[in-house]
Amino acid sequence: MRFKEIIGQQEVKDHVIKTVRENRISNTQLFWGSEGTGGLALAIAYAQYLNCLAPLDDDSCGECDSCMKNAKLVHPDLHFSYPFNLPKSDPNSRSTDFLVKWREAVLGNPYLNYHTWLQKLEIENKQGNITALECRDIIKRLSLKPYEGKYKILIMWLPEFLGNEGNILLKLLEEPSSNTVIILVTQDKDRVLNTILSRTQILHINRINDVDIKNALINLHDLTEDEAQRIVFLSEGNYHKAQVLIQDVEDNNQTLFRGWLRLCFERKGGELVSYVNDLAKIGRERQKQFLNYGLSIFRECILINNGVNQIGRVEGDVLDFVQKLSQFVHEGNQQEIMEEFNKACFHIERNGNPKIVFLDLSIKMGELLKVENVSLQT
Ligand SMILES: [Zn+2]
Repeated sequence: MRFKEIIGQQEVKDHVIKTVRENRISNTQLFWGSEGTGGLALAIAYAQYLNCLAPLDDDSCGECDSCMKNAKLVHPDLHFSYPFNLPKSDPNSRSTDFLVKWREAVLGNPYLNYHTWLQKLEIENKQGNITALECRDIIKRLSLKPYEGKYKILIMWLPEFLGNEGNILLKLLEEPSSNTVIILVTQDKDRVLNTILSRTQILHINRINDVDIKNALINLHDLTEDEAQRIVFLSEGNYHKAQVLIQDVEDNNQTLFRGWLRLCFERKGGELVSYVNDLAKIGRERQKQFLNYGLSIFRECILINNGVNQIGRVEGDVLDFVQKLSQFVHEGNQQEIMEEFNKACFHIERNGNPKIVFLDLSIKMGELLKVENVSLQT
């Protein structure tokens, strides 16, 4: 992960980069920021910068061998520790036993929160913990020299779950070897043992600036200005929360789109007209979003039909829907479907009458989805 992939937090980025460039790297650090501020993402980008073979003035290169391994979280000198729960079947478990799930979770979303992580471990009703055995394992892992990087780095996520076992780590935290960097990433400094706090250099991470969140929502999630603004207001600088709210917006679009498409299929004139009247009232920003959502669903159908089904891009319920719909999308109509949607977007953006635009689109879609797939008959 590179710094530029992290939302906002320019001051923190500048600060940690400066300490590396001036060779003032503290061996034991605590990144302290509330949920959704990006502490874990920053720690990972920082680790990548520390071991980058060709660092730039303001970021890791993203291309060297070390960066490539860091980007996948598989660099042999990058270690993680995090809360987990001891399975009954194996009371000797350590965090490394859950490393595959950890990599999946963090690569999928470096802004994940504690609850999401427990869900990933399928232990959402239990309590996560960083055990004494885990602490001893960390000491063992860090006792070796760096394997290939300049630094051996440990990122411990949520040290507030250490409990008194954390005291096992005190000697390590106090005197790590010079080429070891330990970064503890906490969301709740008050719950971290005082004995640990006193041995770390604390870096406070503020909530993410509203403008930065807004830009991310518009640029990374294709939200409209209005929707982004509403989520910024509700998320209070917490990007995890913003992501949950984006999901709501997507769920709304999904419901609206499916209802509309069903009516187009069934060609129920009266109901369709009343649905279109409703669509005409939701406001131009949401109309654009509705159309963009439709475009992305049909694009997905085309990809599936062409055998391109990237893992994880659509999943669950949406994947079921796309798979069913893709049976009606084929070479005989796919181009026209996309053109009709793009045309509708064009007219809505230029203040076309939404009733006319949506009614026109609905009729066209009803016709296009009935076009038979000739290639199947030959
Ligand atoms: Zn690099």
